[in-house]
Amino acid sequence: MSTTLPPTALQFIDLAAQRRRIGARMDRAIARVMLHGKFVLGPEVEALERKLEAFSGARHCITCANGTDALILALLAQSIGPGDAVLVPTFTFLATAEAVVRVGATPILVDVDQEGFHLDATSLALGLNVARRHKLKAKAVIVVDLFGQPASYSTVRRLAAEHGLVVIGDAAQSFGASRNGRMVGTLADITTTSFYPSKPLGCYGDGGAIFTNDDEQADRIRTLRGHGQSGRFRDVSLIGMNSRLDTIQAAVLLEKLRVFPAEIEARNALARAYIEAIQGFVRCPQLPARTTSVWAQFTVVVEGDRDAFVRTCSDAGIPTAVHYATPVHMLTAYRDFPRATEDLPVAEWLSRRVVSLPMHPYLGRADRLRVTNAVIAAAGRPVRRRSHVFDPQPAVSD
Ligand SMILES: *Cc1c(COP(=O)(O)O)cnc(C)c1O
Repeated sequence: MSTTLPPTALQFIDLAAQRRRIGARMDRAIARVMLHGKFVLGPEVEALERKLEAFSGARHCITCANGTDALILALLAQSIGPGDAVLVPTFTFLATAEAVVRVGATPILVDVDQEGFHLDATSLALGLNVARRHKLKAKAVIVVDLFGQPASYSTVRRLAAEHGLVVIGDAAQSFGASRNGRMVGTLADITTTSFYPSKPLGCYGDGGAIFTNDDEQADRIRTLRGHGQSGRFRDVSLIGMNSRLDTIQAAVLLEKLRVFPAEIEARNALARAYIEAIQGFVRCPQLPARTTSVWAQFTVVVEGDRDAFVRTCSDAGIPTAVHYATPVHMLTAYRDFPRATEDLPVAEWLSRRVVSLPMHPYLGRADRLRVTNAVIAAAGRPVRRRSHVFDPQPAVSD
């Protein structure tokens, strides 16, 4: 008879561990909202917006109901709609493209680079030709800071300036990160984020925010999120929407923001330890110089049979996830939208090879070793580096 206990469950993202640290404070913050009763856009929302401005260095922060609405509001603020094209990476959470469709514009799906999984500049340029061929006016490009790492905005910015595009940063996964000494929130013309519970800075429900340095845009976004009513006038000149942040969520976020810098540090320590242990068995993410990540996901590229890799991890009690198994341009609802090229080969290649490992600030040393041991067992043997590198025409022989 076996007396061995099954291994304790290791969490992919452990929100309970965070509650053990700051739960009591958060509960008191929520109770204060219950007492004052200003449940929508209450004083905590205002306080949170000012705190997020200070944290990011952006001039304006406008909170809203979720990260998808944040994108929609950013697009509406630019008057983007039918007849307009917005260039979007295909290797992302589908909400990036969904928001474009929701405002009546056409997403043009663009490939990503294999290092950072970010919008690829060459593919972006081809996407602009496609917009012209479809007689669409290219108005904006949405850069996604995938898995928590900010993209190279300077490259995109050059192309955007040439073509008069607004650069929108979808920072749903990267809020708190930085590039070249600038925090996310200041890297694009308009930046959006999400406070969905599993994001690096998450609340206890849905939430989102928009960041910009442009006073006029900020005013417009603030007006749009509340039915187009600005409060100063009796008339309404913009068709708005209802996308307000609940005060309870703001109260939760204010408490979480206090420990956020320490949590980011803990995520980075875990990422460094992962890389040290498993680089060479799987391809680990690399940070470019002067770039920090908040590691929304720690996503590796595996060689060989991914299903078998995932099964070996799962048998060892290690939860994994695949972000993303299907690039947006291959989803049934999105496959008829224009794309930069017939195939978007890097995204398609990545979607068959990526695996995300458990990542949260409270994952301790013992659990970390369980993860890295499982990964090494699942990978089987150190890889020949070549097979991890996307190559559209693999060498027949060396
Ligand atoms: C989560 C996410 C969104 C959407 O955020 P919600 O708050 O769930 O609406 C948008 N883009 C990316 C890249 C995301 O990861």
